[in-house]
Amino acid sequence: MTIYNFSAGPAVLPKEVLQQAQAEMVDWHGSGMSVMEMSHRGKEYMGIQAQAEADLRELLAIPANYKVLFLQGGASQQFAMIPMNLLRGKTTADYLNTGEWSKKAISEAKKFCSVNVVATGAEQNFSSIPAFDSWKRNADAAYLHFTPNETIGGVEFNWLPETGSVPLVADMSSNILSRVIDVSKYGLIYAGAQKNIGPAGLAVVIVREDLIGQTLAGTPTLLDYKTHADNESMYNTPPTYGIYIAGLVFQWLKKNGGIAAMEQTNIAKAGLLYAAIDQSNGFYRCPVALSDRSRMNIPFTLKDANLDGAFLKQADAKGLLQLKGHRSVGGMRASIYNAMPLAGVQTLVEFMNEFASKNS
Ligand SMILES: *Cc1c(COP(=O)(O)O)cnc(C)c1O
Repeated sequence: MTIYNFSAGPAVLPKEVLQQAQAEMVDWHGSGMSVMEMSHRGKEYMGIQAQAEADLRELLAIPANYKVLFLQGGASQQFAMIPMNLLRGKTTADYLNTGEWSKKAISEAKKFCSVNVVATGAEQNFSSIPAFDSWKRNADAAYLHFTPNETIGGVEFNWLPETGSVPLVADMSSNILSRVIDVSKYGLIYAGAQKNIGPAGLAVVIVREDLIGQTLAGTPTLLDYKTHADNESMYNTPPTYGIYIAGLVFQWLKKNGGIAAMEQTNIAKAGLLYAAIDQSNGFYRCPVALSDRSRMNIPFTLKDANLDGAFLKQADAKGLLQLKGHRSVGGMRASIYNAMPLAGVQTLVEFMNEFASKNS
């Protein structure tokens, strides 16, 4: 039986990548060493990391005046590093609140500055993105932070906020590399790796050069972007194995047509699943507004929550794993990141149709 893993994160990785890692596990390219055993200052590992960065730069067409940083601490550590580094003498920052991850970013930023919440989706139970013309922005904000894809609530931006000279900061943990973006429109992009890049323990930061180097007084050395930028992410030992796997994922993306091709597949996958939900005569329901539906994380509920247990059990038996919704939302959630093949979504949709007709 083929297993399809719909976990929100850590999440599915491309099978070919895992198989390649397996083949190279004990002896990487005839070096006699596992990547895990290599000095991060040795030529083998330095080559691996340089190639990973070059491939990521190519995939996202990252302009030369942006630094790519491979860090630890997850996306959550960025919630603190961003204000510490990007306030640059200012005392206030703009934040959009579209759900659980926005809220976490906001509460951490409040430790460092006054946070102006430009708009909130709370009144709509975070089922839609507040219209841009309702945002109450502050011209004096050091930056504007938003979450292009809310992993838990399943709302995703299909448009880009225009903030003029106020740098745009984006938590792309759950949708980086899933769609074409114009990096030059952002001041900083960050992502924990464990959804769409690689294993947990690695965070990727893409930051415009001129925004770094003016940290808050007292910022620890390791939390200063400049420390990492000046040292090619090797000030201290980087998460070497995670970077190696991320590099294999970048090569897999390049081999499969890059981000534009991936985006087309992601549109097809999400379209299939939303159609199954919307055409179920109310048996399944997705709470998210049509215009703001995520291509990556698709929450849905069953008409009768008493059937949740049976749904999950039968899905499991068919190899459709980790569909239980986040505890704060309930119901189900299917995370269909880049590495989820179309066949996985097709199998899920077949099962959903069958379950609905048996239980209606
Ligand atoms: C998972 C996630 C985080 C938290 O990531 P950690 O690496 O666990 O800190 C933050 N933001 C978003 C959008 C996420 O999906």
